[in-house]
Amino acid sequence: MTGIASSPGVGAGSVFVLHEREVPLGRTGPNAASEASGATSHPRRGAESELERFTIGQRVAATYYRGLVERVKKNVGADEAEIFEGHLEIITGDDIAEAVEAAIFEEDAIAERAVIDFTEQTAKEFEELESEYFQQRAGDIRDIGRRLAEAIYYGSITDPGELPEDSVIVAEELTPSATARLDTERVAAIATEKGGRTSHAAILARSLSIPCVTGISGLIGAVRTGQLVLVDGDRGLVETDVSRERLDEAKEAIAKNREQATSRRSWSKQAVSRFADGAPYEIHANVSGATEAELADGFGAGGVGLFRTEFLFMRYADFPDVDQQAAEYRAVCQTMSPTPVIVRLLDCGADKPLPYANHEPEDNPFLGERGIRFLLARENRLRAQIEAIARVAADGFAIKAMVPMVVSPQEIEAVRALVPPEASGLPVGTMVETPASVLAIDRLAAVSDFVSIGTNDLVQYVLAVDRGNANVASYYQEFHPAVLTSIKRVVEGCHAAGIHVGVCGDMASHPASALSLIALGVDELSASVASIPELKACFATIRKDALEDLAVRLLAAGSADEARSAAEELVPANLAPWVRP
Ligand code: PEP
Ligand code: MG
Repeated sequence: MTGIASSPGVGAGSVFVLHEREVPLGRTGPNAASEASGATSHPRRGAESELERFTIGQRVAATYYRGLVERVKKNVGADEAEIFEGHLEIITGDDIAEAVEAAIFEEDAIAERAVIDFTEQTAKEFEELESEYFQQRAGDIRDIGRRLAEAIYYGSITDPGELPEDSVIVAEELTPSATARLDTERVAAIATEKGGRTSHAAILARSLSIPCVTGISGLIGAVRTGQLVLVDGDRGLVETDVSRERLDEAKEAIAKNREQATSRRSWSKQAVSRFADGAPYEIHANVSGATEAELADGFGAGGVGLFRTEFLFMRYADFPDVDQQAAEYRAVCQTMSPTPVIVRLLDCGADKPLPYANHEPEDNPFLGERGIRFLLARENRLRAQIEAIARVAADGFAIKAMVPMVVSPQEIEAVRALVPPEASGLPVGTMVETPASVLAIDRLAAVSDFVSIGTNDLVQYVLAVDRGNANVASYYQEFHPAVLTSIKRVVEGCHAAGIHVGVCGDMASHPASALSLIALGVDELSASVASIPELKACFATIRKDALEDLAVRLLAAGSADEARSAAEELVPANLAPWVRP
């Protein structure tokens, strides 16, 4: 069966179908059962007792969610725990209490029905919004309703109980609270009928490294608890008819991968970032929050070269305030200290709309109000972010601010003007992602403390090819002569101005392109965390002086293919020193 690949890896084991505990939505529950049947038909007495049942259930649910927040904070991370803090706020908030009270007194509803009606109505309103983000949050709201109704009816909220080893969780829709309640040590994989890559269950599965496939229609009807299945989170596949031998084989491969993942990480942590001849290079990591920063540190990254703050903002229901932002930035800096952290200013718009930002519809969003343009049009947002970064700088952390989607020096100056005096030394850098910033690099370097090249966007804008459009994917060529010449030009401009230049686009995450960047004179690579071991292993086999020849060949190449081949020739076929004792 096929679905959406939502969290990578392969998992195999026996199905555990996760069913919700039934809550009758008629007029009576066990707490009301001792009342004479006439009691609920008496509108006043019935209503008051229903309201009391709601209040008790609300308390039970709040205690449960508080525990959940703590558990998730400890086991998964603070960012993920915030999801449930949001749920706790909804459960204890005025909106639900007022709606439930009105339904009990005015519509004669029992407490469970009043709760479900309110959350269903809210979920529907979310689903009607254009934003995919809010549509997916509808599932969260329904989850809150079900939990609260369960707490009212049963006086408790259940955990799925003891799972067998290597369980493959199958559910219609796995709600975030259900995901967090799972004993993840025993979960081999997750497969669901509903949901998508951006649903929180998928986000949680990714942070827990549990393979997950979502959006598989007809799944529940096709499997039963105990059946052996295999879930391929890389390809979005579920094999439902698996023999014991096939399963054992898969399990062996999975165990080997797991073991390798651990040795990969410990190898990477201790491996120094040097070429075969001892020449050093800098390798940093791209992160989007504190949890990933911990991983980056575990993989031996020499700093954070790109902290994508828009992903952090997406975990909030509204713009995080200065205190919230400062806490998030400080957490990443504390993990990485004393190595530096580059915080990129909010880069929303285009393919990364922020659900609560009220973006105007645009004909050409990639050429529209994105990156620094969005922030300059909303100076209070820019000011708040700079202030949060400045606070962490004032505490002595090596934090820097980087400006996305720059086209002219005035944008950097506008950002710098907002840096408070107590953090006047805060380094402010330019992200080179547009043809304008390449051509005007001398002017930009003159007002910047550092530069980082965002090749993902630079390739798209230099070659006029949408980075997300599969139909033109063959035009998206990182080794195109125009791209390589642009990178070279930026390096020269930055070095002439005496400033450091890095690359934080995807080119820095693959051995052949990463080597090419160093060959072209780039000072620092910022790669995805998981690619760091491979890069370190590759560079350790190559003498830095071999790159002089590569630079000549890259710049002389007549085509992207020719340049790519020149770089690939240097990359050894087998790169896995972590499997050797
Ligand atoms: C880039 O454009 O290369 C980059 C790193 O930013 P993003 O991928 O977030 O646009
Ligand atoms: Mg970009």
